[in-house]
Amino acid sequence: MTTIVRFAPSPTGMIHIGNARTALFNWLFAMKTGGQLIQRFDDTDVARSKQEYADAILTDLEWLGIKPSAIDYQSKRFAIYDAAVAKLKSAGLLYPCYETADELERRRKIRLSRRLPPVYGREALKLTADEISALEAEGRKPHWRFLLPNFADDPFAPSRTEVHWDDVVRGPQTVDLASMSDPVLVREDGTYLYTLPSVADDIEMGITHIIRGDDHVTNTGAQIALFRALGAEPPAFGHHNLLTTASGEGLSKRTGALSITGLRESGIEPMAVASLAVLIGTSESVQPVATMEELAARFDPAATSKSAAKFDPAEVGTLNRALIHQMSFAEVQARLAELGIEGPQAEEFWLAVRGNLETVADAATWWRIVREGPDTAESLSEEDRGFVAEAFDLLPPEPWDRGTWRIWTDAVKAQSGRKGKTLFMPLRLALTGRPSGPELADLLPLLGRAGTLGRRP
Ligand code: GLU
Repeated sequence: MTTIVRFAPSPTGMIHIGNARTALFNWLFAMKTGGQLIQRFDDTDVARSKQEYADAILTDLEWLGIKPSAIDYQSKRFAIYDAAVAKLKSAGLLYPCYETADELERRRKIRLSRRLPPVYGREALKLTADEISALEAEGRKPHWRFLLPNFADDPFAPSRTEVHWDDVVRGPQTVDLASMSDPVLVREDGTYLYTLPSVADDIEMGITHIIRGDDHVTNTGAQIALFRALGAEPPAFGHHNLLTTASGEGLSKRTGALSITGLRESGIEPMAVASLAVLIGTSESVQPVATMEELAARFDPAATSKSAAKFDPAEVGTLNRALIHQMSFAEVQARLAELGIEGPQAEEFWLAVRGNLETVADAATWWRIVREGPDTAESLSEEDRGFVAEAFDLLPPEPWDRGTWRIWTDAVKAQSGRKGKTLFMPLRLALTGRPSGPELADLLPLLGRAGTLGRRP
């Protein structure tokens, strides 16, 4: 059987690194099992869902290297949900309720005071046809609840009804259907809550594994019952832990915190985001992984811890630098060419500067410094200026290589008596305009003798 998974965000904002975790868990699971991923937008809430967010999510997924085999929108699939509703109604498993939120709250308090579980008592099932007509005549509209299979003959006497599943992330799970209220599937205004469209689609799309955040664990019991009520075998489930900030706060699409778009725009590499999003909160150490294939090889859903994974946003930057530092020229050649970095010196240049870059795009700054000279005014004292000018008289003849720096600075040391920082810093400032950067031994052959002399203060 081919594995079919889905990533099902509501397009109500930019996805963040926590959503990317869900998308990547699904994608890596599909990769490992030779399956497919369906990109489904849960956009039944038309007021909050926006096409521009769906488009941004598709761009983000493509950038991350996730390749859905199909893209679909719940807003185009209402006929499927309407058919599911008809099926449930005709089986007597979806019943109309007329309580207001206040009435429900009052009843909840009464149940609590009687030490009963604060679940819905199915009072609407007792309404006679006449009572229903009277309520409708008042202009009341019903919301519709799914009758959970948690009783033998009498729906008013529910008894412990365990639903089990072997979670691909958390291992064996049990939920008691008697501990929950019959879920509302359709609101008074006829709009759908998340549960029914999700299950109806998972059936219709042939989803074999539902992999999502562990905030959905308790939904799963009722959803398994709903799969069965609709005549389908439930798929397998996997619930991964959620990411929180260091202070334990959840991430939200609405606040735009650590959005994938934002990380992309700030020059972060997709595999830095993917490495962090997947490996954090697992028994694997968080390391920069260069390709999705390698990440898939390390990915083991069962190695995910059960508690929330706290993460430090600064880690994205650390992983990014580490990835760039080990990138070969072949890997970045095309991107460097787009930045204008090409020609016979490009490879040597890349190997010289990659260890000092925050982003690949930063290479352009160093390319300019190497080719055109410092772009910031070097702050040399009068004395250092004289020292550097004299040092330039000692530049060895070409050809130059990595050893030239040593030969030159040995000669400068012998003549000036300077050493350490007092020797190197003025030379670095004169050559690059900056107090730190790539090894001067690597830069010098790129500057060449003429290029170096052009920087004499
Ligand atoms: N739209 C739901 C969410 O974003 C999907 C949950 C699921 O994967 O079933 O939470």
